[in-house]
Amino acid sequence: MSQTQEVINTGGRTIRVYRQHRRSVVMKTTPVGLVLFIPLRMSLKNAQLQTFITKALAQIGDQVVVENAPEVTSPAQLRAMVNTWAERVGVEPTRVSIREMFRKWGSCSRKGSISLNTALCRVPHELAEYVICHELVHLIEFNHGKGFKTLMDEHMPDWPAREKALDAWMAGGTLD
Ligand SMILES: [Zn+2]
Repeated sequence: MSQTQEVINTGGRTIRVYRQHRRSVVMKTTPVGLVLFIPLRMSLKNAQLQTFITKALAQIGDQVVVENAPEVTSPAQLRAMVNTWAERVGVEPTRVSIREMFRKWGSCSRKGSISLNTALCRVPHELAEYVICHELVHLIEFNHGKGFKTLMDEHMPDWPAREKALDAWMAGGTLD
């Protein structure tokens, strides 16, 4: 995915444009906002593209999109939450980075580092907490197997409800 500076502002929405080796046009809602994937040389003024965008926006409608929500947690507070939960879970991440991620709320590496999506600053506290706990538990159990669930149940008994609530914050999927 090559990054560009192109942005479309329309209907009160900001759409980031990514040019790729592709023929079709795809728009996605991601935790950090709307993203449009288009062919390398397509003009943003292309009439078909304009029609596609209008339709796609109508389809997304009033679905909850994180980009429009106010920041309720600062990145520093996220880091503090990581420290609190790391102690509870009994792990020590080697590195914690907070960055924009299009496909995930959080991730971890086998080397013990954790990445958190900046979008977590805009979802309710307890949902950010769920992602943090989830990634920290992965430092012990790398998959989502029985051992993982047992640890989640132990540290955050209501995690399934939080996981479900978090899904609602990423209106969904591909429009193509
Ligand atoms: Zn996981």
